Amino acid sequence: MYDVIVAGAGPAGCVAAKRCAEKGLRTLLIERRRLPRDKVCSGMIVGRLAKAMVEEGFSELPRDIVLETLPGLTLWVPEAGQSTIRTSVAITWRRDLDFWMAKEALEKGVEVWDRSVVKGLASDGSRCSVVVEKQGATQELAARFVIGADGINSTIREFLFPELPATYTVAYRECYAGSLNLEQKTGHVVFPSGDYRPNFWILPKGDCFTLEGGLRVLRKEIGRILTPCGFQGGRPLWKDGCLSRVQLAGHPLPDAETSARGNVLFTGDSARLKIPVSGEGIGTALRSGILAADSIVESLASGRQVSDLYSKGLRPLLASLYSFSLDLEQIKTGARKGPQSLLDELMVAFEKTIEATGF
Ligand SMILES: Cc1cc2nc3c(=O)[nH]c(=O)nc-3n(C[C@H](O)[C@H](O)[C@H](O)COP(=O)(O)OP(=O)(O)OC[C@H]3O[C@@H](n4cnc5c(N)ncnc54)[C@H](O)[C@@H]3O)c2cc1C
Repeated sequence: MYDVIVAGAGPAGCVAAKRCAEKGLRTLLIERRRLPRDKVCSGMIVGRLAKAMVEEGFSELPRDIVLETLPGLTLWVPEAGQSTIRTSVAITWRRDLDFWMAKEALEKGVEVWDRSVVKGLASDGSRCSVVVEKQGATQELAARFVIGADGINSTIREFLFPELPATYTVAYRECYAGSLNLEQKTGHVVFPSGDYRPNFWILPKGDCFTLEGGLRVLRKEIGRILTPCGFQGGRPLWKDGCLSRVQLAGHPLPDAETSARGNVLFTGDSARLKIPVSGEGIGTALRSGILAADSIVESLASGRQVSDLYSKGLRPLLASLYSFSLDLEQIKTGARKGPQSLLDELMVAFEKTIEATGF
């Protein structure tokens, strides 16, 4: 019998598990893949929330996992120009970042099972039964609480909300050797379609760089925009892709109802907590993981329902995400007025998310 079983060893799961173990709870962290594992992501720690949450949940980022710290993020609407937001952007590979977090959890006494998949979940509101396939063998475990931290394509969410079908969009990533000759030595987000989407990101990654986003539909535009910067196209060193955004039927935005059910709490991407404009989700994953652990501890001490405590704690974050989603509407309005208005609205919205804190 575990106190807490956490599904998924990304930022949300690692921080939640670590915090539960620190409070003396018997905690199991289950990860489907072999650790260390990579994740399709720019790996940027950008914005005040993300930095604050890394430090609150763990400590300062170790130097050896930061490839470099960029001086900002440049938004680029080719027909209008570029604008740079000055902020520090730590660039990491998620393989290294998440493995550091998993090791920190392990050190605090979390039992970590990798190559193990949550295959089933039943909950009667006070006790959960979790079916796990560990390296080929199936077993049934009991826990007082379960934390779903199993990412965008969450199976825990499917078990608990079978009535809510999900639809997804896909993002692609390609890695090329060398670097581009860009005006600004920052991360770049390029909006070549006269609208917010599709867009693509350019990130330096040590001795290579990645392109990410709607690469398939933007192939021609990428060639046109980046050839003057020294991009030669051709075969990337490697490429991959992942599900990137999820829509739940009847729940267009993340809400309290789909963030918890009984004694099962959803965190990070499994609760759809990515920031709408920038697509960042590491900071919000960490924030929700911390909240989930703290809600469990408080529920055990007070006897209050954990889902109520967690939903209450999440309220400011959900309100901020709602407000950012309205900015997305402003950006679309800007796009209709022309490229310069699109760039202006993008700047306002990105600056707001980067400065945001306190949820
Ligand atoms: C192209 C792209 C670029 C991005 N760039 C950034 C960025 O630069 N900065 C930023 O802040 N955010 C970025 N994001 C968002 C960020 O990647 C996510 O929001 C973040 O990873 C969410 O963390 P998480 O812990 O909720 O989930 P994840 O990091 O996805 O971790 C979930 C884990 O659960 C495991 N799992 C899944 N199912 C099971 C199961 N049944 N049993 C056991 N384990 C399971 C998975 O293997 C995975 O390891 C980007 C996203 C995309 C798509």
